Amino acid sequence: MKSAKNSPLKDGARVAIIGGGPAGSFFSIFASKLAKDLGRRLDITIYERKTFVNQGAAGCNMCAGVVSESLVQLLALEGINLPPSVVQSGIESYHFHTQNGNVRIKSSRLQQRGIATIYRGGGPKGSIEKGIQSFDDFLLHKAVECGAKVEHIIVDEIRMERDKPVLYSRGKMLHDCDLLVGASGVKASTGEMYEKLGTGYKAPSIIKAMQSEIEMGNNWISSQFAHSIHIFLLHIPRIKFVSIIPKGDFITISILGKEPDAGCTKVFLSHPEMRKMLPPGFKIPEKFCHCFPKINVGAARKPFAHRLVFVGDASSARLYKDGIGSSYITSKAAAHTALLYGIGEEDFKEHYLPACETLNRDNLFGQFLFHVNDLISTISPLSRGYFKIIQQEQKNLQKDAHYSDILWDMFTGSRFYKNIFIRALNPLPIIRLLLAGSASSLRKVFFSHQ
Ligand SMILES: Cc1cc2nc3c(=O)[nH]c(=O)nc-3n(C[C@H](O)[C@H](O)[C@H](O)COP(=O)(O)OP(=O)(O)OC[C@H]3O[C@@H](n4cnc5c(N)ncnc54)[C@H](O)[C@@H]3O)c2cc1C
Repeated sequence: MKSAKNSPLKDGARVAIIGGGPAGSFFSIFASKLAKDLGRRLDITIYERKTFVNQGAAGCNMCAGVVSESLVQLLALEGINLPPSVVQSGIESYHFHTQNGNVRIKSSRLQQRGIATIYRGGGPKGSIEKGIQSFDDFLLHKAVECGAKVEHIIVDEIRMERDKPVLYSRGKMLHDCDLLVGASGVKASTGEMYEKLGTGYKAPSIIKAMQSEIEMGNNWISSQFAHSIHIFLLHIPRIKFVSIIPKGDFITISILGKEPDAGCTKVFLSHPEMRKMLPPGFKIPEKFCHCFPKINVGAARKPFAHRLVFVGDASSARLYKDGIGSSYITSKAAAHTALLYGIGEEDFKEHYLPACETLNRDNLFGQFLFHVNDLISTISPLSRGYFKIIQQEQKNLQKDAHYSDILWDMFTGSRFYKNIFIRALNPLPIIRLLLAGSASSLRKVFFSHQ
């Protein structure tokens, strides 16, 4: 008879984790460390269908690969320091390319190049001998160092048998477990397998993005893209937003838009604003490493049940930023619940769900802020005024940099959207923006009549 509450993971308890991405590795590391502190030992197996040493999409967890400053610092506090073979570049600024011109934003708060860019797999196709170490492989090794076993196998069926989850792969039983951790993200269709269990879990809603890796050589990338992430908000048809992330010899181009396809990368690379940044005589390659990963844009419903908990993208993630940081948050909260409180449905509801709800509520503020940002960009005088204010703020960073900080915090993962929202309500900067917008309108009218 299963009860709503259940005792915490005991000494020798078996934990099965489906997915060896950041969420699976983080859960394993936190659970092993906490168990050790409590004088217990866990038998943890991570089931991961990929090996992250392979190049191209087959060995990669497909993301832009920006690790936020806050996460770099949190990992360091956990004793997880990203080695130079994992970090492809340290970021010190964001460079915005807009209809109104370009502006580079630095934050007075950022520690020197405190944001890291990484590859989630063994590197783009064709990057042999570039000395690239995958971030996911690095974390998975940390989980193994803490005592986990890794099996490179796909889990395609779960059954509840005698009150315990039992895992299967291609008809073969793998093993039963005291706790099953769903850390399989949203990029594969594993969510449907969990939904069939009938616990009330519903996988998160998703949108499709496009990612391309283009080789340009380290020297060119250092001189043109430097230690900066470039964001393009250019109103190109079917493209909402493009970011370029410098990584050694390659740039990663991430495109969000309406069902983006390979043609979108070519259209973007042909845009005059981008052409300026390409090496002389650059020809768009016929073939380049690319993929169409899914992004979590809505929380899972009921990310827990009796002996079952979902973490990372399979549960809740921050909207459009710091998904890896969200995996850290949810995995830590789930591991603490399982070891300190219990592995029953009520235990997760009481002690794990609040961590997910904090992220979900914060995303509502994020949605609102992105809508306002979109609105400003469609009202020309306002967007010109906004742009001018940010340019002025960047000339003297020691003074108030209200709008630069808002933009910085929206695009990096360092602050919660709620805090940004509260700051954005400050009436004085709003008046300043409206005045700048009116001045820009008047200038336009005046000059058009001359
Ligand atoms: C285009 C794009 C850009 C992004 N950019 C960033 C960024 O710059 N910074 C950031 O922090 N986040 C970014 N994200 C979000 C980030 O990728 C995710 O939030 C993060 O990867 C979630 O980690 P996870 O471990 O939950 O899932 P994943 O990283 O997806 O890992 C899940 C793992 O489970 C494995 N798996 C799935 N099903 C099974 C199965 N049935 N059996 C065995 N193994 C299985 C998969 O192979 C995979 O390794 C981006 C996402 C996208 C799509």
